Amino acid sequence: MNIDSIFQAAQTAFLDYKNLSGKEKGHFLETLAEILESNRAAIVPLAVRESNLPEGRINGELGRTTGQIRLFANLVKEGSWVEATIDPAMPDRSPLPRADIRRILTPLGPVVVFGASNFPLAFSTAGGDTISALAAGCSVVYKAHPAHPETSRKVAECIQQALSACGLPSAIFTHVEGGIAEGQALVKHPLAKALAFTGSHAGGMALFHLANQREVPIPVFAEMGSVNPIFCFPQKLEKENDTLAKAFVASLTLGAGQFCTNPGLIFVPEKQAQNFELAIAAELHAIAAAPMLHEGIAKAYYDSIQALEARNELRWVKVADPKHLINGSPALAEIKAADWLKHPLFHQEVFGAFGLMVVYRDHAELLDIAQQLEGQLTITVWAELEELKNNLTLVNLLQEKCGRLLFKGAPTGVEVGHAMQHGGPFPSTTASQTTSVGSYAIKRFARPIAFQDMPQELLPEALMDANPLGIWRTVNGVMTMK
Ligand code: NAP
Repeated sequence: MNIDSIFQAAQTAFLDYKNLSGKEKGHFLETLAEILESNRAAIVPLAVRESNLPEGRINGELGRTTGQIRLFANLVKEGSWVEATIDPAMPDRSPLPRADIRRILTPLGPVVVFGASNFPLAFSTAGGDTISALAAGCSVVYKAHPAHPETSRKVAECIQQALSACGLPSAIFTHVEGGIAEGQALVKHPLAKALAFTGSHAGGMALFHLANQREVPIPVFAEMGSVNPIFCFPQKLEKENDTLAKAFVASLTLGAGQFCTNPGLIFVPEKQAQNFELAIAAELHAIAAAPMLHEGIAKAYYDSIQALEARNELRWVKVADPKHLINGSPALAEIKAADWLKHPLFHQEVFGAFGLMVVYRDHAELLDIAQQLEGQLTITVWAELEELKNNLTLVNLLQEKCGRLLFKGAPTGVEVGHAMQHGGPFPSTTASQTTSVGSYAIKRFARPIAFQDMPQELLPEALMDANPLGIWRTVNGVMTMK
């Protein structure tokens, strides 16, 4: 594998591809979605075998993958995502005339994408990062995740088929296999213009530092997981004890807990704690251990649990039962908020179906907790309206700590849409201004460029006076389709 040739080809392909119309890019993405669907019978068994995830889940994940591809296809076909903004010239303005200034979003260039182990389809080869970069008009150099090599190769083949069917250069997407050294070489290449990653904190931070040590640093969009706390209030628990216990356990144990939105922490008031714990324990004991993605992930899960078992601040409600190391057995421990506040170890993510129930005394303690929380992808508040109204300071503070604040349901199950925000303050991600799920993710791979006094016929169509694309634009500060 010659990394330099890969990037030279990716750069050449990018220079052509970026100028394609939104309709042409959209057509390519739609073609890809169709090809992936027509290869369902080949892709699903591979992904099931390589990830240990059940067939139903993988089938659903393929649907989610093609669904998000179509979301981006529609976005770029419609075209307004480029945020065309026009301040027309004011030659007669006094005391100084104003030049004609027109700004638009333009794609960054070749993007390096690292696949995730826990979503072999939706966050991997043709997953959200790859597709949002392609939709923006970037070429992609993709580092396959070693946990699902055959699935990755098959999906990469589908992407090549789609490129070929649309008469586009194959180097718009390059599939690279290898280990740490290859991944790092991709990030270091001078033609790489951005990096997208989903995985561990250690991996994300290593790549973040590498990208910043380059002679020309590049943006790093690393999603590194989260503990996704749930804050429970007394009246809500009094009313819905069993329903909420069910909802918590279902979310905690979904997919053996291998979701970045898995709720690993739950804050419960002292008075209601015992009842709630009983209901949770009853649910939890009925859930069997499920195979984890690979032995490395299962080992990391049990190592983390072992480190916690050594701490005498914890009382175990359900212990993990590692009969077969690949199986992630759900576990739950309880701790007093005063102890939780003292030790950062208890704040950290345990990737898998482990929950820590933190029992708090009063609202003052709850505020201390919120102040100490690190940045999260999500925070959930289970409270009655009256309780929310009486705790606006807390609700206000929690907004500073997360990318998505929920008031119903559980954080797993991330909707792929226009309003979704999947990315929070550090350490959940390295770039809280953006999302890695939903159509807004496209903005990660574009930068603004302004054209000053550019002749009309040379302007991108999105900025021409006649608005030939018929898109929404901001002209003189006013949104218009004219
Ligand atoms: P990972 O270890 O972070 O690896 C993800 C990808 O990044 C792999 O391709 C890996 O390379 C690469 N990588 C990791 N460290 C690197 C470094 N220092 N330099 C260059 N490349 C590097 O994630 P994983 O293998 O999927 O799972 C390990 C742990 O990550 C889990 O136990 C869990 O804690 C966490 N995780 C979190 C999320 C999340 O939601 N954010 C998702 C999945 C996993 P190789 O190809 O050489 O392995």
